[in-house]
Amino acid sequence: MALEFLYSQPVKIRFGCGSRHALGEVLSSLGAQRCLVVCDRFLRPAVEQMQHKIPAIAAIFSDVEENPQLIGVTASVGLIREHDVQAVVGIGGGSTMDTAKFAAAIASESDDPLPYFRGERHFPAVRLPMIAMPTTAGTGSEVTQVSVMSNGKEKKTINNPVFMPAVAIVDPELTLTVPPRTTMNTGLDAMAHALEGYWSRNHQPVSDLCAIEAVRLVLENLESAYRDGSNLAARENMSLAALLGGLSFALPKTAGSHACSYPLSEDYHLPHGEACAFTLDSFVRINADERLERLCRRVGLSGTEELAARIKALKQLGGLRMTLSDLGEVDLDQLARDAAAHPLMRNNPVEMDEAACRRMFAALQ
Ligand code: NAD
Repeated sequence: MALEFLYSQPVKIRFGCGSRHALGEVLSSLGAQRCLVVCDRFLRPAVEQMQHKIPAIAAIFSDVEENPQLIGVTASVGLIREHDVQAVVGIGGGSTMDTAKFAAAIASESDDPLPYFRGERHFPAVRLPMIAMPTTAGTGSEVTQVSVMSNGKEKKTINNPVFMPAVAIVDPELTLTVPPRTTMNTGLDAMAHALEGYWSRNHQPVSDLCAIEAVRLVLENLESAYRDGSNLAARENMSLAALLGGLSFALPKTAGSHACSYPLSEDYHLPHGEACAFTLDSFVRINADERLERLCRRVGLSGTEELAARIKALKQLGGLRMTLSDLGEVDLDQLARDAAAHPLMRNNPVEMDEAACRRMFAALQ
């Protein structure tokens, strides 16, 4: 069969320890004299310090929650308008970057994100440039056109070119303070992005190469970063793994384990990475084929069984929830129904209907 694909990656990526200090220069290159910084709560003092050196930081919004709510977008748009800013910077984990992306996308038109979230209104043609600075090594949001937001309990992935950052500044030093449990959750999220991009029905060669390298980097560095958060080499490799993980799924999109992560986050409150990891080793077994065996050999593993075992061992090491009883009282039928119905499940290479999802979850006793 003839090989055909369309690859595109529009984000300018600035990677390296200390690259955060280039923020002022990057803002100037975008012609932005005033910007809003959306940041994680714990980062507010650091961003206030940055303001002394970068006067272009006109306003800071730091009330982003995990699984971010639309209200953070409304508040950010309020600051964008009040301070007449020309760019938005998201410094934090995926929750923060996704809030910043959404605010930058709608600010020229509205401060109400709900109609866009519901798909009742098209995103405006004009948007503010967005700069993404990840402080966790996991989501890859810095290179995707995805914003994941919640409206109450309803969590939704919105995939639209308006969310593509203009520039990603990836400074591994920003991840040195991530606590061990979050290091494990986010590191396995990077692994899930790489594997799901690789086995997605829409996989393609450039993304595949990013995926293979991301899997190798996670296998070789996540345990070290978890055990010693100050290990800069491990942090650097994990930041690279997360970036490559983002590039792995940005075009192919994710599949089965991400489809399952939505009900696991919405109904059982698992953080995103832990929710993806919950079924990731199961999907390694379900999706095992010659391509996946080839990936395993390329990263130095004997095969898919070893990959599944390594993922399980990382989950055990991090104390992540792994069985149905870890989730408390579970409505297995509902969980299987919701997972099977999620649109990302259609991307899984092996068809997974409600009965197949039920069997998979039931095996996790
Ligand atoms: P997060 O942003 O929710 O942060 C998790 C926790 O880590 C928070 O308590 C935060 O305060 C803390 N934290 C972040 N950086 C820290 C640091 N350097 N030091 C200490 N603490 C730090 O977690 P996340 O996993 O980065 O993002 C998850 C969100 O991203 C979910 O909503 C998920 O659905 C979404 N997501 C988006 C994409 C995308 O392409 N847009 C991809 C995957 C996931």
